[in-house]
Amino acid sequence: MEADEKARRSGQPGVALFSARHRNAHNFSGGPGALPQVVLDQLQESVQCVPEVGLSILGISHRSAWFRAVVDEAERHIRDLLGLTADWHVLFLQGGSSLQFSMIPMNLGCTPRTPVDWVRSGYWSNKAAQEAGVICDVKTAWDGQPGGFRHAPTWDQIKRAPGAAFLHMVSNETVEGVQIADMPPRDEGIVVCDMSSDFLARPVNLDGLDLVYAHAQKNLGPAGVTIVLLRDHLLSRIPRGLPPMLDYRTHIEAGSIYNTPPVMAIYTMLLVLRWLRFDVGGLERMSQINAEKSAAAYAALDARHDLYVPHAAPASRSPMNVAFRLRDAALGHAFRRGWLDAGFTGLDGHRSLGGFRASLYNAVGLNATQDLATFLRAGLIVQRMMA
Ligand code: PMP
Repeated sequence: MEADEKARRSGQPGVALFSARHRNAHNFSGGPGALPQVVLDQLQESVQCVPEVGLSILGISHRSAWFRAVVDEAERHIRDLLGLTADWHVLFLQGGSSLQFSMIPMNLGCTPRTPVDWVRSGYWSNKAAQEAGVICDVKTAWDGQPGGFRHAPTWDQIKRAPGAAFLHMVSNETVEGVQIADMPPRDEGIVVCDMSSDFLARPVNLDGLDLVYAHAQKNLGPAGVTIVLLRDHLLSRIPRGLPPMLDYRTHIEAGSIYNTPPVMAIYTMLLVLRWLRFDVGGLERMSQINAEKSAAAYAALDARHDLYVPHAAPASRSPMNVAFRLRDAALGHAFRRGWLDAGFTGLDGHRSLGGFRASLYNAVGLNATQDLATFLRAGLIVQRMMA
């Protein structure tokens, strides 16, 4: 009570998370992650007043013509950036990517006896398998666990179960920093892909995919909205009698405004999409920048193999999440102090894997990544230990 009152008076949360030196530009958090500065500036204004509406973004009705136009424009940008054909539906849903773990098998007509193929490439594919397993019979189509989740599979290594309703894959394992570079070939049957941590970070060939989902809080905006892309032919599989909120058809019919959606999160996503399309110049350019960023980070780790051990095998390295540990774990505390003092934030590894992780989502700039690379190369912890 007293702490809450103190926090209210000081305008600070009860626990100081970051030093005053931290800047948004050096936010390497695994998510929610950095947003482009131009978007933050526009958002700041919109909290007071969206100029063309004359109201705060926090108080605009989701039933207004303005918000309908926001949703429609966001959809157009996604369609254009990915080159979606007309048979794809674009939905903005709630419940995070985690709700999709069960919504997908429910909508694809699965029962506890329906086999589905699961590529187990790391923490998030395992979590998804666990939750989907309540609805359907999850079969392991490929298992990265024996290899310590350091490798991504190639398509010829994935073994399909007879009669499987669909195959589930995670294009980028956020915790381990492992990315599946190639999308599935066309003849793999129904393929579902969790793209939460590399959505709109590169051009992707969607020919072999039937359903894609990704929450916004890594490359697209704040938490609260999850993008689901699904092909029209899947609708015939949706059983009758699903709770309306969990039925994709409800949201298709309502154009993603069935109940009150997260207006501010969707508006922010629109601002990020405009930035990506018009300021950055699209996915080809974005992926070049992302490749340059991750190359700088991995080169720094490789240059100091006396200090660092990257997690992912070189051929499977994610451009989005660079996971590594220190060769000498005893230096962890000093290393952490070092990057905090340097003004970086968000470099702690996921609680399940430990170590460290630099997430280089779209809005993390090349300059910030180069600062990080310079810091890693300098081996500041060693200098600190010797001081
Ligand atoms: N999938 C992946 C690849 C993720 O990285 C995460 C969370 N970081 C999730 C799913 C779960 O997302 P949410 O918290 O939106 O449910």
